[in-house]
Amino acid sequence: MRILLIGLPGAGKGTQAGRLAAHLSIPHISTGDLFREHIDQGTELGQNAHTHIQAGLLVPDEVTIGVFEERLVRPDTERGFLLDGFPRSLAQAHALDGILAGSGTRLDAVLDLEIPEGQVVRRIAGRRLCRQGREHIFHIDFSPPEVAGVCDLCGGELYQREDDREATVRKRLEVYRSETAPVVDHYQAQGLVTTISAHGRVQEVLSRALDAIGQGQTDATGMSS
Ligand code: AMP
Repeated sequence: MRILLIGLPGAGKGTQAGRLAAHLSIPHISTGDLFREHIDQGTELGQNAHTHIQAGLLVPDEVTIGVFEERLVRPDTERGFLLDGFPRSLAQAHALDGILAGSGTRLDAVLDLEIPEGQVVRRIAGRRLCRQGREHIFHIDFSPPEVAGVCDLCGGELYQREDDREATVRKRLEVYRSETAPVVDHYQAQGLVTTISAHGRVQEVLSRALDAIGQGQTDATGMSS
C-alpha cells in the first residue's frame, strides 16, 4: 500500500506512522527524519535545512523533493510505503503524483489526522524524543516515560526538538494553513482522503487508521515498535 499521513503539527503523525508502517510491513518515510539525519551528519544540505526548520518554515521544495526521491528509489519501497510529512506543499504533491505516475502507481489512501488547533501547542510542548531511536516518542502528560528524561524502550536520553518551542510551533501552524492544507484539498478532490480523529490513546487512533485503510480486522494491540 502507498499511504500518506497528513495533519497539523502535534497530531501524532510520527507516532502513528511508525506503528502503521510496522503493522503493514512497509517503510516509514519521514522527510523530517531525513533532514534530521542530514543535520546530525553535518552535511551542507542539513545545514541549509536546519535554517528553515529552526524558523518553523518549510525547507524549499526542490531540496525536499530531491531528498524524498533519493529515499524513494531504495528497493524497500517496491511493496509500498507510508509517507509522513511529505508532500507539504502543492508543488511537492504534484511532484509526488508525477513520480508515482511514472512508475504506473498512485497513492492508495490519504489519512488526515485531525486535532483541534487549540490543542497543538500543548501537545507539542510536552513531546519528548529519544536520541537513540527516532520512533521512540513520549509526551510528558499523555504518555510519560517511567523515569523522566529516559526512554522506556532503550534507556536513551529524551530531549525536546528545538522547533517544538512555542513561537516556532505558531509559525509552523501558519505554514500548515497556507502551504499544507491545500494538499489535503488536492487529494480530497481525488477522493483519497479519510479524516481520522487523533483524539484518544495511541492504540485507539491506530485502530481508526487501520479501519480507514481496510485493515481493521487484525488485532492492533501489542504493536509497540
Ligand atoms: P516533521 O518532523 O515532519 O515535523 O518536520 C520537521 C521540519 O522539517 C518541518 O517543520 C519543516 O521545516 C521540515 N520539513 C519536513 N518535511 C518537509 C517537507 N515535506 N517540505 C518542507 N519542509 C519539510
